[in-house]
Amino acid sequence: MKCPPFSYHRATDVADAVAALADADGEGKILAGGQSLVPVLALRRARPDVLVDVNRVPGLADLAGREGVLHAGALVRHTALAAQDGHPLVAAAAGWIGHTAIRSRGTLGGSLAHADPAAELPAVLRACAGAVHVAGPGGTRRVDADGLFVGALQSDLADDEVLTGVELPIPDAWGFAEFARRHGDFAVVSVVAARFGDRLRVVVGGVAGTPHLVGGEEALDALDPGGGPLGPDHVDRLADAAADDVDPVSDLHGSAGYRRALTHEMTRRALTDLARAGDRSATSSHRREPV
Ligand SMILES: Cc1cc2nc3c(=O)[nH]c(=O)nc-3n(C[C@H](O)[C@H](O)[C@H](O)COP(=O)(O)OP(=O)(O)OC[C@H]3O[C@@H](n4cnc5c(N)ncnc54)[C@H](O)[C@@H]3O)c2cc1C
Repeated sequence: MKCPPFSYHRATDVADAVAALADADGEGKILAGGQSLVPVLALRRARPDVLVDVNRVPGLADLAGREGVLHAGALVRHTALAAQDGHPLVAAAAGWIGHTAIRSRGTLGGSLAHADPAAELPAVLRACAGAVHVAGPGGTRRVDADGLFVGALQSDLADDEVLTGVELPIPDAWGFAEFARRHGDFAVVSVVAARFGDRLRVVVGGVAGTPHLVGGEEALDALDPGGGPLGPDHVDRLADAAADDVDPVSDLHGSAGYRRALTHEMTRRALTDLARAGDRSATSSHRREPV
């Protein structure tokens, strides 16, 4: 199907994009890679009056590591994330997104703003306790990952706000596991495990409206040996805890029980990866078939 009619505004800078959204009075949408927005328009799930194209806005595609954090502009493409080696976890996860054509156009900011509960990058942002920077008519603000995802396809961003940049803390050790029906499909269930010092965060994608942080940090601390090596018993107990903690619903991709079983297995795999790697040098052993 063709998209419904809209007018098109090519933003020259962030302030211009914000002004164009404000002028549209709730009927404007940012156009980034278009890999989610265009299908949404074609399916008539949205009918914005104005598309505000931010692809020519200077400075939104910068990517740099500083003091243990990867700072990425909203327009950084999934291919660029998959190719960089400063944050191996996000590189591995980006390699699982769709196919080459989608990764070449799709952007980090677009994925986070779109807030698909099965998408890889929102789960990584939450596992890493990252944050986004947002510009709006009233100025700029920083939104923590824990507050960004409000519901399925719903973020904390207002209609007239633009996501400009992303902070992704680089974990000391990490693991990523995903099950999808076919190569390039969205995850049925994905699990991201990230360790920062003695804190472990495990996030499950595909089991709720937002990326699910298992048990809260305190609950996991009780099962995790305080930053020490994770043995097979610990991994099994943490996988049990993750499977108990999620409350998935049944849909055409699988029953709630199936998703719970996948949560157990993907958590076991992600934590086994994390335990095996132990440090950031194990990037290549993590990066499996999808890239
Ligand atoms: C066949 C197919 C398979 C896919 N498979 C996967 C997959 O396995 N995993 C996955 O995660 N994704 C998948 N995607 C989606 C893809 O990753 C998209 O690139 C991503 O979800 C959105 O990024 P985008 O840059 O294309 O955003 P767009 O499509 O341009 O925008 C998406 C939404 O975010 C808003 N938005 C975009 N940028 C900003 C910004 N800077 N500030 C405020 N709002 C903004 C837009 O207004 C729109 O509402 C798939 C897409 C297709 C078509």
